[in-house]
Amino acid sequence: MASGKENATYQLLIVVDEAVSVRVGQLGEFAFAPGYYVYTGSARRGMKARLKRHLARDKRLRWHIDYLLANPHVTVVDVQILDQPECEVNQYITGTIPVPGFGASDCTAGCGAHLFEVRSVNWEG
Ligand SMILES: [Zn+2]
Repeated sequence: MASGKENATYQLLIVVDEAVSVRVGQLGEFAFAPGYYVYTGSARRGMKARLKRHLARDKRLRWHIDYLLANPHVTVVDVQILDQPECEVNQYITGTIPVPGFGASDCTAGCGAHLFEVRSVNWEG
């Protein structure tokens, strides 16, 4: 693999600990049930900085995921970094889409969203 895309994809395992309503930028306000969520993103450069940013609560809200993670009842409990393309990884997830279009502004693979609510966590760490 000489594409320079290795380790470009990351997934955040997110726990919502009580029912919350979150305004997700211009997508609007959405209810999130308590449970597990998986967010898939990519950072070709600056992976460490990106992940550190996701884990920080105080920041300017830029991406859809920022709005969700800014809520005090929402916590990132695990992170994994993968070699496969972002959308391929995302499409492996079995779950429901709480917010159509979430994190998928740049998606050209028809994922529907890059955030899924998952019933059980099949986390290959
Ligand atoms: Zn996608």
